[in-house]
Amino acid sequence: MGEDAENTGTTGATGTARTTGAPQAPEGAGRTDGVEEGRVGRDRDRRIGRRTLLIGGAAAAVGTAVLARGELGHLWWRLPGVEKPRVAGAVDFRGAQWVAASSANWRRADRPDDYGIDRVVIHVTQGSYRSAVKVFQDPAHGAAAHYIVREDGHITQMIRELDVAFHAGNRGYNERSVGIEHEGFVERASSFTDAMYAASARLTAAVCGRYGIPVDRAHIIGHVEVPGTDHTDPGRFWDWDRYIRLVRQARTAAEPTRTAGA
Ligand SMILES: [Zn+2]
Repeated sequence: MGEDAENTGTTGATGTARTTGAPQAPEGAGRTDGVEEGRVGRDRDRRIGRRTLLIGGAAAAVGTAVLARGELGHLWWRLPGVEKPRVAGAVDFRGAQWVAASSANWRRADRPDDYGIDRVVIHVTQGSYRSAVKVFQDPAHGAAAHYIVREDGHITQMIRELDVAFHAGNRGYNERSVGIEHEGFVERASSFTDAMYAASARLTAAVCGRYGIPVDRAHIIGHVEVPGTDHTDPGRFWDWDRYIRLVRQARTAAEPTRTAGA
């Protein structure tokens, strides 16, 4: 999150101008998290085009008759407008609590099939956990992250990893990343508790494991490092060495020990 939870009036997921009357911000210029430029319509066209190509290629390879009989059943989710099954309340990280963000604050996608995921973006809310949940549920906010980690280590998931959350203020980075908010303030060192670091590290380790993301500072970045951003989170009190170490430990613990030659 940025300085506050105020909507800066960019276009939303539908690509239509918001009714706040605020001018449309240029790409990455918003102050709040996830302010995203409005080029969604064009983007949607591109995605459908790509899926059509995928289906077309499959049909050419195996023949339409075979597709019609059986293969289509395996490829149904690649068809334009058809999504993977979504179970209400299901979370991507075990133990997380599901609280749905407003659908205006994210965009439906099929990651990692339509967009590869190779980044985790670390944020700080600049407010309480409750206020972060509230603004992510607010369609006027225009931004939200996939997860919020509370001071006590509680994790809430608000957007599925399948989908593109508007959290980085940069369309390309939104498409390729999972966004994790942390309750607190960038200038308050005490915001970042042991429980928060531990829980967040387990979450990031799981995300890295799921998508094959290397556990390093090139792939686990702060919002401040997103190109074009004017945000400073997570700020100088976020202990990156400690965090990366904890993520590595959690990754190692999650992976079965490899035997020689395996
Ligand atoms: Zn942020």
